[in-house]
Amino acid sequence: MSTTQTRQQQEDLRLRGTAASPGAAVGPVVRVPGPLGEPAAGPQVPAERREAEAARIAPAAEEVGARLMTLAGRPGLDPEVTNVLVAASMMAEDPALLDNATAHVRDDGTPPARAVFEAAARFVAALQAAGGYMAERAGDVVDVRDRIVAELLGVPAPGVPALEGPSVLVARDLAPADTATLEPGTALALVTEEGGPTSHTAILARSLGVPAVVACRGAASLAEGTLVRVDGGAGTVETAVAGTPVGADRAAGGPATVTGPVTTADGHRVAVFANIAETKDAERAAAVGAEGVGLLRTELTFLSAATEPTPQDQRAGYAATMAPLRGRPVTARTLDAGADKPVPFLHVAPEPNPALGVRGQRLFDGSVPDRDGVLDRQLAALVGGAADAVVRLKVMAPMIATAAEASRFVARARAAGVDEVGVMIEVPAAVLGARELLAEVDFVSVGTNDLTQYLFAADRQSGPLAALNDPWQPALLRLLDQLCREAALSATHVGVCGEAAADPDLAVVLVGLGVSSLSASPAALPAVAARIAAVDLDACRRAAGAALASPDAASAREAARAAAG
Ligand code: PEP
Ligand code: MG
Repeated sequence: MSTTQTRQQQEDLRLRGTAASPGAAVGPVVRVPGPLGEPAAGPQVPAERREAEAARIAPAAEEVGARLMTLAGRPGLDPEVTNVLVAASMMAEDPALLDNATAHVRDDGTPPARAVFEAAARFVAALQAAGGYMAERAGDVVDVRDRIVAELLGVPAPGVPALEGPSVLVARDLAPADTATLEPGTALALVTEEGGPTSHTAILARSLGVPAVVACRGAASLAEGTLVRVDGGAGTVETAVAGTPVGADRAAGGPATVTGPVTTADGHRVAVFANIAETKDAERAAAVGAEGVGLLRTELTFLSAATEPTPQDQRAGYAATMAPLRGRPVTARTLDAGADKPVPFLHVAPEPNPALGVRGQRLFDGSVPDRDGVLDRQLAALVGGAADAVVRLKVMAPMIATAAEASRFVARARAAGVDEVGVMIEVPAAVLGARELLAEVDFVSVGTNDLTQYLFAADRQSGPLAALNDPWQPALLRLLDQLCREAALSATHVGVCGEAAADPDLAVVLVGLGVSSLSASPAALPAVAARIAAVDLDACRRAAGAALASPDAASAREAARAAAG
């Protein structure tokens, strides 16, 4: 195929994926190399070259270590990410790994890249056999191994390359460490072939305010350097954009902040809250004018802790996270751990189906007294931290399926001194049992990410199943409708804190269904607030009715937009 033909094809591409983070941007494609395959086991290095080939390993590892250290030293990096990168840098120069690989080359004539691969395989096997936290580190060894192997082979290292200018990153999928090192000004947009709307990449892109399209079939055909326009709200990637300036697409940009208490055009009040996990998010939430926090994910400190953080440390950590929101309401979710989000000191046994296993509140619901203490200490630390930060604390539990579970959680939270106690609605059974469940709580908040995956029996991380995890699915909206009708009977407040709340058009539908608060990443809030302010409550109800009556997600989206006007 000639270059002209290739360019012509690139100019005509219009790809459709799943909208994962709103906004639009135009920029040249930078491809993120995928994982390396196994390096070849031969040909054997001849005896006279073995010393020289073996001697290449240490400098290659040093180079990788130094590059990781430079990445770790970049200003403004999340401390968690810095720690991961420093540890990876040290791992790259681990003498045991290097000695082992060097011996392979010297003694058996194994090619250096293969020797590193094999030496690392032994470490990986040992870590996996140790299980739990150690097994989690196996992925880090694989990452470091691939970087050294790439260096030895002279091919691009896996992961996000150093960007020379504003770029659109195109990858099969991105690892958490990849997305965490991105800078919004340089990484203009993300496009992945895999992942779903609630996958890690999508959540991170939204929190960075970077447009993203995931599960984008055909993204593999986008050539390095091609100018593309990514619309993260519509879920499209187009190449016919010659002459368009590179950068965020201002036409798609909305307001930068939320102004005043949000109401529909005819004065119906809708609270607009932020989803946060740490102080940096809280600062962003305050900066965009969030009314408070609708979901404080409290896992962060626990996931990296080998032992339970002391009550004092927990209290100080929550106080620091909440401090930027002084005077505002903060809804904290208690620890949502399990085999998929392992917290080493909780000793959760590996499970064949972690998403269906002992996760969230199920960990603390009575069976293991030591763990019960963990929840009670967390509740006390949240109460203390909120008092120190002077915020109005509400607490809710994740993964509640029955009224009895809700009742037990409420009793414990009240005993810890929490005044307003609710639960998350993430399991379809909680909606079907809403009448009894709502009688136990002060409020509910819908986690649409999990509710969708459990309703459709479709893993939220799965690329091939992304369409089932689309929050516009009418079956999900009908479930929410049922919940809101039940809640109206007991005047219980229903919020939504899943990613559905970040989509301005869907937010209109949710308000029409009867949802009274929306919580999303700070970057998404101004557009959500502006959209609600532009419509009246009747239009919201019409949009909800149109979406509920639609046969599929795509027509629900279109019908709701048309009905809202
Ligand atoms: C959800 O499931 O929608 C939710 C908000 O919780 P998380 O994404 O943390 O599971
Ligand atoms: Mg959830």
